[in-house]
Amino acid sequence: MADIIQLLPDHVANQIAAGEVVQRPASVVKELMENAIDAGASTIKLIIKDAGKTLVQVIDDGKGMSPTDARLSFERHATSKIRSADDLFQLHTKGFRGEALASIAAIAHVELKTKQENEDVGTCIEIEGSSIVSQEVIVTPKGTSIAVKNLFFNIPARRNFLKSNTVELRHVIDEFHRVALAHPSISFNLFNNGSETFNVPISNYRQRIVNIFGTKTNEKLVPVDEDTEVLQISGFVGKPEFAKKTRGEQYFFVNDRFIKSAYLNHAISSAFDGLLKGGTHPSYFLNLTVNPQTIDINIHPTKTEIKFDDEHTLYALLRSAVKHSLGQFNIAPVLDFERDATLDTPYSYKDNGGSTPKIEFDRNFNPFKETGSSGKQTTAFKTQSSNSWDSLYVGLESKGNDFQEDFGEVHFESEEQATSLFDDETQAEQVHATHQIHNKYIVSTIKSGMLVLDQHRAHQRILYEEFLQNMTVKEASSQQLLFPLQLHFTPQELVLIDQLKTDLEHTGFVFSNVSKEMVEITGVPVSVPESEVSIILEQLISDVENEVPDSHFSATDLLAKSMAKSLAIKTGQSLEKDEQEHLVNRLFACKEPNVSPTNRRTFITMSVDELDKKFI
Ligand code: ADP
Ligand code: MG
Repeated sequence: MADIIQLLPDHVANQIAAGEVVQRPASVVKELMENAIDAGASTIKLIIKDAGKTLVQVIDDGKGMSPTDARLSFERHATSKIRSADDLFQLHTKGFRGEALASIAAIAHVELKTKQENEDVGTCIEIEGSSIVSQEVIVTPKGTSIAVKNLFFNIPARRNFLKSNTVELRHVIDEFHRVALAHPSISFNLFNNGSETFNVPISNYRQRIVNIFGTKTNEKLVPVDEDTEVLQISGFVGKPEFAKKTRGEQYFFVNDRFIKSAYLNHAISSAFDGLLKGGTHPSYFLNLTVNPQTIDINIHPTKTEIKFDDEHTLYALLRSAVKHSLGQFNIAPVLDFERDATLDTPYSYKDNGGSTPKIEFDRNFNPFKETGSSGKQTTAFKTQSSNSWDSLYVGLESKGNDFQEDFGEVHFESEEQATSLFDDETQAEQVHATHQIHNKYIVSTIKSGMLVLDQHRAHQRILYEEFLQNMTVKEASSQQLLFPLQLHFTPQELVLIDQLKTDLEHTGFVFSNVSKEMVEITGVPVSVPESEVSIILEQLISDVENEVPDSHFSATDLLAKSMAKSLAIKTGQSLEKDEQEHLVNRLFACKEPNVSPTNRRTFITMSVDELDKKFI
């Protein structure tokens, strides 16, 4: 038989390599910025169009390339950074594989302009899908500019795979943050569609963090410094009370390289043990310096995971360093802070954070009616206007209410019952008692047998329909705050809030000001306790950022979903009998009671027949 194995042509091999290196515009951002750093730049500009899909350009003032190097830089495995395998364990540069430019040039239109310091003229090379289109002598400043246009122009499948601009831009900004945080001694600019989004000058590490995440961050930072033989740790952790629901601000840098490590992350979380409210994550910005010989960076295509020789020791050192810093900060204000009243306050939530949320309800309250009660027994969770989180959940602890404790009867309202659950039953269905199991499910008897409902999903459905109704049909009612609420966000989070402002206003939010660093809120929807506002907005931002492009994004819908998710009764929460019954009743008054807003089943039923079968 004839031989069948052939060497792949270079441009095909490069395209395959590109699959590893370049997943999305943010990957290009990372590779180009890292090259600029390796070239010794002190100023790096990143220019983005259409979230990087149309253009990613990085301009640096580094050492530039000779005409021959400029040409060679696009060859695969062409690198100036290592010469032998041994060098892999002595790395002081970001790059070393010589793969990035070759990969990028295989799947985009690339224009490189570069000039070395002592030369009069530089080189311009244009390359498209691995073929050189032109190479010219040009006049250009010292340093290098690489423009990557029309990413994946020759691989439509990959191009279609890219997410919406919002999502891709989020990835680009994340990458920009990572590089900028690792290098405070370099100044960075980011221009997005022609406007400057970030301008971070050369500064110390604390200022760098503040320049990226906003001035309000300053007071949240607790310094961490530890110097041992095997490891130096420097940087900051966020004070526990500022811990976020999302894992956004968690950064490890090892020898100036951003890395992900679930193991080291665990070390930090365990140092925060007992200091955090449930479901929140601490922020941290930590630089670890280790001997390059004790790590292997070559285990992951994007080099974001590395292998440590002695992970256990690092874990222990990191945990104790963070614990130590938190301890110090707990006892006395750390000197390098501006005096801040919050520093002198001991953690109060340690004692009161565990109080059980409660629910109050009002039999006559109907959120779909403008005024007054209909006289019918329409049950609803009371959405009321007192100003604390407790307002939504009042009364769980106190047993002293006059709710019927016996297994009384609760009636479904026949005309609002939009479900086929009860078959041909048009008469009001009777629910005989409810029972909560594992603080998660509510079981109830129905005519045909038994109903089991997921309390969290059911309440999400109820709230979701309520919010949608408020936003689309009727004028939302708003409760005026006594004192305006000022919430600080990062600049890009504020861009999102600004985009959603009109929709938020329809739900009852009143904004008196949206600036570059904060929002001022003077009114909130009646169903939203003031203390939950920042959590709701944070959740919303994270939901918008993770929005999937083909989900027919509608801001209103997303907002309603997000708020329902934030405010719904959680799994694990114990409910009084009446609250259970009301949940059941309200769910079946919904338009689509069968599924949660995210399309998950809200309840199941089991008929007596099915039960009988189980006992055979
Ligand atoms: P690597 O960074 O792994 O060496 P790349 O494909 O990213 O591989 O780059 C190839 C080579 O091109 C680098 O080794 C470097 O010599 C040169 N180079 C790339 N970008 C720049 C830049 N911005 N300034 C100077 N030289 C650069
Ligand atoms: Mg590189």
